[in-house]
Amino acid sequence: MSRTAARRAEAGAGTAGRTTERTTERAPGRSTERSTERATERAARRAAGAIDRATGPAADPAGQAAAGLAAEVQRWQRRHGRHDLPWVGERDPYRVWLSEVMLQQTQVASVLDYYRRFLVRFPDVRSLAAAAQADVLAMWSGLGYYSRARHLHRCAIQVVAEFDGTFPADSAALARLPGIGRSTAAAIAAFCFGERAAILDGNVKRVLTRVLGFGADLADAAAERELWATAQALLPRRGIESYTQGLMDLGATVCLARQPLCESCPLERRCVARAQGRPQHYPVKTRRLRRGRRDNAVLWLEHRGRWWLVQRPQSGVWAGLWCLPLLDDDEALAACTQGWPGAGAPLPPLAHALTHFDWTLRPVLWRWPARRKAPAQDELRALGEGRWFSPGEALATGLPAPVRRLFEAATEPG
Ligand code: SF4
Repeated sequence: MSRTAARRAEAGAGTAGRTTERTTERAPGRSTERSTERATERAARRAAGAIDRATGPAADPAGQAAAGLAAEVQRWQRRHGRHDLPWVGERDPYRVWLSEVMLQQTQVASVLDYYRRFLVRFPDVRSLAAAAQADVLAMWSGLGYYSRARHLHRCAIQVVAEFDGTFPADSAALARLPGIGRSTAAAIAAFCFGERAAILDGNVKRVLTRVLGFGADLADAAAERELWATAQALLPRRGIESYTQGLMDLGATVCLARQPLCESCPLERRCVARAQGRPQHYPVKTRRLRRGRRDNAVLWLEHRGRWWLVQRPQSGVWAGLWCLPLLDDDEALAACTQGWPGAGAPLPPLAHALTHFDWTLRPVLWRWPARRKAPAQDELRALGEGRWFSPGEALATGLPAPVRRLFEAATEPG
């Protein structure tokens, strides 16, 4: 069967929604790609060996074992995959790319609305490339991990400038674009161009390491490379879309991190981790991120119904977003507001978790008396460069999620 015919047949089968837990990716270097290729055959034998060990002695050669696993994933995906999400069966690289980036580190339920609204505002790569970064951030506001939005914008500009608005049609070229890691590139190439490219996001890592009993420590680059090679070796010859989607859906809905639903899993019979009775042991990754803590005072300055916001620097947390001024502590807040008319009213603290630290934000609402003129930028120099926003303007701009929640609560009717 030709690739086109195979893809047509596959499209008839349909695909399901992309998944929830993604890992930060880096594109592989050329030497890594070469060593991955060399390891593929070895990995296929190892993968098949693991499957055979789990299912008992079998006269199943390596290729057949891998094909058997793939076929079960595909069958399951057609019957039980998530077929009701807006990017289901999508073949437009722009839309697949957008959904993949939004789903990195973000739950499907949170992405749905953003995905639809983003496509209304930026229906194609050219409209996104032509937009101001502030508008892109505004559309992303509340979704978190804003570097994704900045990379998305840069990538769109590059696709228009270097590829005349058409995404490259292979995973290696895609992985060289800003913000597109190896797994995202493979997903775009598999779904849109039928390329046999392995994905390995957090969910898929979990499924494969458990099925194969892959116990090497993924904190080691060599183990990570070996898993990539194994994932590549397991790819079916046909139906890459339903296989890729099936692995994603299994990881998101069945092979859950804490309580995998093994009795509903099509791979139960083959699964080494299940046979060992310890799915939660996999994947193995010893080097854990050490989370820090931060605590900041937040000044919510209000005058005649308008709020003073400052723009965050272009690098670091919440880069480029508009935000209430953050101060190191209460002393800094007191120093900054010394001599101001009125008084600050502390509001309940906001807890916010970022990748590297847990953040406590302690807002203080300061109402500048309405009878007095609004303080000008010069008087507010200590807070940074900023301007006054009406609530409507503020909510239409790119805001950090906790600040948005604060404003939304303040503007709720009743
Ligand atoms: S049998 Fe259980 S542990 Fe193994 S892949 Fe399926 S859900 Fe995951």
